[in-house]
Amino acid sequence: MVDWSGGNDRGAKPVKDAIWACLATKGIAEAPVYLRNRQLAEDWIIQTLSRLQAEGRRVLVGFDLCFAYPTGFATQLIGSEDTLALWDWFAARVTDTPDSNNRFDLAGEINAQFPGVGPFWFNGLKRDIDHLPRKGNARRDHGLPEKRAADIAVPGSFSPWQLAGAGAVGGQVIMGLPMLARLRQRFAGTLRVWPFEAPDAQIVLAETYFSTLRELVAADPHPIRDASQVSLYARAFSNMSPDALAVLMDIPATPEGWVLGAGKADALRAALAPTPPPLKNDCFAMPQGAHWTPVDEALAHLQSHLHCVTGTDDIAVGDAAGRVLARDATAQRAHPPAPNSAVDGYGFAGPAPEGLNSLPLVIGRSAAGAPFEGTVPKGQAIRILTGANLPTGVDTVVLQEDVTVDAGVVSFYGPLKKGANARDAGEDMQAGQTVLTKGRKITPADVGMLAAAGIGAVTVRNRLRVGVLSTGDELRDPGDTATDGQIYDANRPMLAALFDQAGYDVIDLGRAPDNRAVLRDMLDTGAARCDVIIASGGASAGDEDHMSALLANTGSFALWRIAMKPGRPLALGVWDGTPVFGLPGNPVAAMVCALIFAHPALRVMAGSTWSEPVRYMLPAGFSKSKKEGRREYLRARITDGKVETFASEGSGRVSGLSWATGLVELSDPAQTIQKGDLVPFLSFKSFDA
Ligand code: AMP
Ligand code: MG
Repeated sequence: MVDWSGGNDRGAKPVKDAIWACLATKGIAEAPVYLRNRQLAEDWIIQTLSRLQAEGRRVLVGFDLCFAYPTGFATQLIGSEDTLALWDWFAARVTDTPDSNNRFDLAGEINAQFPGVGPFWFNGLKRDIDHLPRKGNARRDHGLPEKRAADIAVPGSFSPWQLAGAGAVGGQVIMGLPMLARLRQRFAGTLRVWPFEAPDAQIVLAETYFSTLRELVAADPHPIRDASQVSLYARAFSNMSPDALAVLMDIPATPEGWVLGAGKADALRAALAPTPPPLKNDCFAMPQGAHWTPVDEALAHLQSHLHCVTGTDDIAVGDAAGRVLARDATAQRAHPPAPNSAVDGYGFAGPAPEGLNSLPLVIGRSAAGAPFEGTVPKGQAIRILTGANLPTGVDTVVLQEDVTVDAGVVSFYGPLKKGANARDAGEDMQAGQTVLTKGRKITPADVGMLAAAGIGAVTVRNRLRVGVLSTGDELRDPGDTATDGQIYDANRPMLAALFDQAGYDVIDLGRAPDNRAVLRDMLDTGAARCDVIIASGGASAGDEDHMSALLANTGSFALWRIAMKPGRPLALGVWDGTPVFGLPGNPVAAMVCALIFAHPALRVMAGSTWSEPVRYMLPAGFSKSKKEGRREYLRARITDGKVETFASEGSGRVSGLSWATGLVELSDPAQTIQKGDLVPFLSFKSFDA
């Protein structure tokens, strides 16, 4: 981001109203750079762009500088509205050194080519310049608008015709366009200028405006406002998701150009919202010992040691289903906004007494979207349709099925209470009311409610990036040929589907052989690309259990021996800042551990609230006795209102997982279940929420 200036060299000591620039990457800004004059600034921009280009990076260069003049100017001057050709026109005529430039003289020469007086004004020099008035009101008949549509869209912006005086921008525009023209030449082929050209090149130039986030600039610690501005805007734009940036850039190309982010301060603020810190290295450290950790203790540990790790984004309500709300949503207006009718019928001032009521009808009607604007006198009625606003004088509606209408009179039998069949303004939602709190995973019904409350966009958490990988020399990908000694990798596609359905951004990290170096590389890649890694296999303490061996070296490792069946140890650790869940290799154990432990943990990391699975108490269709000291999860489904369990409890039997629609949970104490006893059933479906 570059804050340009039209003045002369400002000296060695950093000062305000000079040129300031700042480079940021993914929301992290380098120190703002003070550039005392335009020549140094242009050099710095060229060097920086060359370096970033060599590094293969994409760069958005934002200038707080009008890229164009109001419609008609270019045509009069160069014969067409070709803005980029106009830049070249200026480049050929502007002379510029650190101590002097010809901007006032050039403005006078340009004015001479227009009828009347103007459009440029404010001669900042002592000597008079032909055709350049000192006062704005001396101008007349030059035939050009004062501002571009883009300038009108940013409140407080100045007209590019004013060359000098407090806040003026006209001087820096004349002194900036030649520099922009030279950048285009210099980086020809890899640079485009938005919105005059499609922004599909490595380097994109765009006009911005640094005065929208005033409160954030004021709160920034840098003593010089211009430095705070370039730093804040660089952080904001560089932190935007490609989608969010595409929304800002999606405007029709006009020769007048546009200000990137005009009217979109909320999107900029959302991009500046801090990403939460990563999880601590010791988040999985549980007291170790000979004892087997009860399920509830393991869950309590996860609940208290995990937190949200994702940043935020603003998205349209229509795209929000399945996303996690990052900020409370507040109704923008009451629902319904005005009292209206709940039925088709006739409205009047209630109540209606017992017996026959006959009310003359006023002429006209009130329909949804076409309310009756007049007043209904007491003792009269009006035709009204469902959803139509109640006209003044109406508070009660009689159902059309209950009336007869004859010769302009509506008749019906009372009594009817005052307010019958009418909806009050705000009876559903009040303006300003919090309708959903942060952490909520937005449902389709929520989308409807938010829309009804006049909310067009919501701030949501970025999708949690969940990497899935498998380990084991014996594994082959489904569809490949396999020998008898090999099995197909069932866990990776199964876990990927599970977390995809839960609304996460699943990244397939592949399959590792039982080889420590390869697995290490995979964890490196995964940690760089994901917020959390879900691995299966190799999680115990055997010779080929490389996952636990590698995690053990990070110093963050914990092997959780949980008192449950199915399940062997869970290997938990933090690899380069990214938590890793090492699930057992047996598909049934992998699935159960994913549902019971990874599922609530990931919810919290994604910004949702901690949740317990819903337990439906249903009669058992089976009998079983279990011993004390561990929790058991059985594959189960509901048949004729009773919970059936899968014939075999073998942990390798994937078919039973598919057969089941959920799990029966048998608590830790020893117990004997008889047919008909109530047992807790956990539906797989409830793990999607
Ligand atoms: P491990 O935890 O690596 O000792 O594996 C335990 C059992 O689960 C072994 O029988 C493995 O072959 C099996 N297994 C491990 N990973 C997978 C997988 N991704 N898909 C299917 N079975 C697996
Ligand atoms: Mg293995």
